[in-house]
Amino acid sequence: MCGISGIVSYKNVSKRLVKSLSNLEYRGYDSCGVAYLRNGQIEIRKDIGTISEVEARERLSDPVSCIGIAHTRWATHGGVTKANAHPHLSYHQNFVIIHNGIISNFRELREELSKQGYEFKSDTDSEIVAQLLEYHYEQTKDVEQALVDTIHRLEGSYAFATITPYDPERIYCTRHESPLLIGVGPDSQYIGSDLNAFIEYTKNLITLSDGEYAILDKDGYVIKNAMTGREAQREITHISWDAEISKKGGYPHFMLKEIHEEPQVVHTVMQLESEKIAKLAEMINEAKRVYLTGMGTAYYVTVIAQYYLAQLTGKFYNTLCADEFENVGEFDEDTLVIAVSQSGETYDTLSALRCAKNRGAKTAAVVNMLGSTMSHDVDHVIMQGSGSEICVLSTKAALAQVVALIRTGIELGSHFSPDQAEEFDQRRREILQTPQYIQQILDELSGIIRLIANKIYHITNWLFLGRGIYYAVSLEGALKLKEVTYHHAESMTGGFMKHGTISLIDSQMGSVFFVPPETEKKLHTDTMSNVEEIKARGGFVLGVHSGPFNPLFDQQIILPDAPPFIMPLLHIAASHLLAYFVAVKLRRNIDKPRSLAKSVTVP
Ligand code: GLU
Repeated sequence: MCGISGIVSYKNVSKRLVKSLSNLEYRGYDSCGVAYLRNGQIEIRKDIGTISEVEARERLSDPVSCIGIAHTRWATHGGVTKANAHPHLSYHQNFVIIHNGIISNFRELREELSKQGYEFKSDTDSEIVAQLLEYHYEQTKDVEQALVDTIHRLEGSYAFATITPYDPERIYCTRHESPLLIGVGPDSQYIGSDLNAFIEYTKNLITLSDGEYAILDKDGYVIKNAMTGREAQREITHISWDAEISKKGGYPHFMLKEIHEEPQVVHTVMQLESEKIAKLAEMINEAKRVYLTGMGTAYYVTVIAQYYLAQLTGKFYNTLCADEFENVGEFDEDTLVIAVSQSGETYDTLSALRCAKNRGAKTAAVVNMLGSTMSHDVDHVIMQGSGSEICVLSTKAALAQVVALIRTGIELGSHFSPDQAEEFDQRRREILQTPQYIQQILDELSGIIRLIANKIYHITNWLFLGRGIYYAVSLEGALKLKEVTYHHAESMTGGFMKHGTISLIDSQMGSVFFVPPETEKKLHTDTMSNVEEIKARGGFVLGVHSGPFNPLFDQQIILPDAPPFIMPLLHIAASHLLAYFVAVKLRRNIDKPRSLAKSVTVP
């Protein structure tokens, strides 16, 4: 959601700046813009639309300058208009800013500065930051002091950066509850909302913490704490990801490329250091109360993991949507909260962790994004190492997260029941086989799933049904279909469907059943009874199962006959392909569906 980028360099930055902004496009946005300093003057170019559209109209990368900041906006306050697009200029045109997040007290501040004669040009909450910088500069004649004074006035969540002719060779930036990274190069310094902003130029990154600000010039940077004024010493993290990993690599969409990376990311998670997994298992074991939390797909990852953990340990672990945490959660020093997040920046999940931490709880997270806030704010982190996921929908990262939590469950289970060591070893071996089964689905079933998608794409209302862990899988399957096709899809347990929702069944209503293997006798039989109930009412049924062919289904995806323990993972992979091919048929904006953002960094 929204991208921030900035470069200060010995050389012209404009081409790199616009490229860097394009590398943040996947986060989701509605308008974009850049600001440079040239001959002691601020030059702004911005508009609504995509980067390539605005580049064509406004020539964002034409100016020659050694310092610039850039922004993609995902509007929260004020409509999607050119005036509301960032960067925003202060009244006397001496400070220009880009901002991500929400300044919650902007109305009071705006009123205050309006009384001092400041005029505002936009309806955004963000413009106040530029005005405050200018106002405080007028008082102190010191840019750094103006930044600190501004920070002290702001409430809400923000990452912002500013450049000013008063100090024309430096970028000033800060963050509070919104992401901001620094990229350290030999002759250029970078800022970005995530490392995709600068990974093409430098692999050395530093994460700014809440309440810190940084001042960058072409030779280096300084980081200080805004409360104490003290300088912070930071270690540089070296990223090993290749920029190429983010390219489409011949696939028509990142979503398809990333689904095809599912075998690889499962393999990677299986190679993660055992100590990291053992430590999480130990934390779970020591806690009296455990919550698994996340939002969207990451939340469904926790529900799938909940079933796996129950199966492996015989214990029930709570899952709770991060945004409802404060409303119903109970936490103290004996509580452990395990968060799951691809970006590590999800606002609701970070809030849940903070809330838990404030009440003494321990925190852990499974995260994909290096340098993200969550990855360094929790007591223990498992970096899943799935590589950057560019499509707004999470596929490979989600699957890898499930596997990380299964590994934790195996570790815990072995601890609780050492006498069943052989059984747990067997589970481990089965997970190691998952990549080859998923590869088989990709190689042998993509064509069939595409054909099915071409037949069913016109059905706009869907039930996604399952029982046991297959219910959890159906939650993820339904969300994926909704996100990318804009069709309505609702998930529930097979049993629950009979208690009300069954009244919706007619020939217009589609159902997708995730059918457990026959070896899981009761679950299988009960699920098939639900299929009969829907067929009896004229409903259309797509069955996802591991065979044999069953004429009861109108359409079916027959998965390889894998060990029952890993079957849910195969169902997840198939549901990702299904959503993808329906969206292709409907010509949806697959990698950037409407209204979605990669990491939702606002409440
Ligand atoms: N709240 C700001 C606006 O609406 C920034 C939104 C963003 O994070 O892109 O302009």
